[in-house]
Amino acid sequence: MSEQLSLRAERLRAAGHKLTHARLSVLRVLEESGGHVTSAEVLERVSALDASIGRASVFRTLDLFTSLLIVRPTYIDSSVTPTYVLMPEGHHHHIICTNCNRVIEFEDCCLSEMTAELEARLGVKLTGHLVEFYGLCDRCRQ
Ligand SMILES: [Zn+2]
Ligand SMILES: [Zn+2]
Ligand SMILES: [Zn+2]
Repeated sequence: MSEQLSLRAERLRAAGHKLTHARLSVLRVLEESGGHVTSAEVLERVSALDASIGRASVFRTLDLFTSLLIVRPTYIDSSVTPTYVLMPEGHHHHIICTNCNRVIEFEDCCLSEMTAELEARLGVKLTGHLVEFYGLCDRCRQ
């Protein structure tokens, strides 16, 4: 866990961003969240770590991390407040049950071929993806 944290901290530094106390605190909260956390939970946990870190600085940090693909916002549970998901290696995959809203995580990724094909065909440079499949989970389909 701490190694992952320093990897992400390295990524921040490599992108030319200072490792401020606020940024490192938000990183730590994200790491300890197990992958999914709402902005309200981030705020609450960061201020429990250090009450001097302000709301605005937490939101700016989340925006910065979003642009660096450390996290991405998703709207699993609410259309109002995003849930931030960590993007290990730049990708994250879900299957969401449209009946019970269960979120199933999976690591398998066979999108590298599609990524290369899109880059060649559209002239873009792709840095990551967040995939959501929708359907019925094993319990709901019975
Ligand atoms: Zn279900
Ligand atoms: Zn997830
Ligand atoms: Zn993937």
